[in-house]
Amino acid sequence: MDCTICTSMPVMLRPPRNIICSTCYEGARSVIFFINKQLQTAQGPADQKPNLCKTLENVSKWVRDMKAESEELGEKIRFLSGFSVAFRDQIHTDILLQPGESGPPIPAHKALLAIRSEVFNNILDSDGCKAPATDTVKLPELNHEELESLLEFLYNGDLPEDKMNKHIYSLSLAADKYGISYLQKLCECHMLKSMSPANALDVLEVADVCSSLKLKENALDYIVKNMHDIVFSAKYDSFALKNPHLCVQISRASLMDAKRKSVS
Ligand SMILES: [Zn+2]
Repeated sequence: MDCTICTSMPVMLRPPRNIICSTCYEGARSVIFFINKQLQTAQGPADQKPNLCKTLENVSKWVRDMKAESEELGEKIRFLSGFSVAFRDQIHTDILLQPGESGPPIPAHKALLAIRSEVFNNILDSDGCKAPATDTVKLPELNHEELESLLEFLYNGDLPEDKMNKHIYSLSLAADKYGISYLQKLCECHMLKSMSPANALDVLEVADVCSSLKLKENALDYIVKNMHDIVFSAKYDSFALKNPHLCVQISRASLMDAKRKSVS
């Protein structure tokens, strides 16, 4: 089709027609729809309705504004990431965190721990925050490597994929125990995305301990859909011994699923 937008024919050779193909038409419509959705959800004065985008006229300005905004945010993040340098180079650290297993304690900053975790805030508050710099807090449930990853997350706001994969369950339990809701949210997203027959039982167990309803429902649903692979695996035996109440829930969910299928 002789589309005025996506044609590869030089402008001077094209006949004077202004028609566009269905792909470009749908693309333009979805760009306008997307921008209007962003404008409508953007926070603004309650009485002021956003100026909705009706044509593609302002799209390039909108994209430029978004790019400038994201560059500004990047600068702001770099400015705020000074704490991770202080952690890496151990500048003015004032607390030691001791992992459960043997291993050296890790120096950190009380202020950062108190800001990131409401539970740490309470622990440090109860000490009056006037304890000497050699103060030590024990985190018995984490080994040295897990504690290091938890701290890396608290200082940087994210973790490399390999560390997230390796420590996802201990990080999720720590996020729940120490009230770090952002980490909890990221762990849940990660577990939802990477659910497989090999890890669905672990996810269910963690979701149950952390009272994460959405994750638990998803894990149960996934287990029911992959019942044969999971229930006949060797892992299920040890899981059943440790979590009889979850096995009851799996059986019930499976029966409900079979019932639903037989009705439909
Ligand atoms: Zn086109």
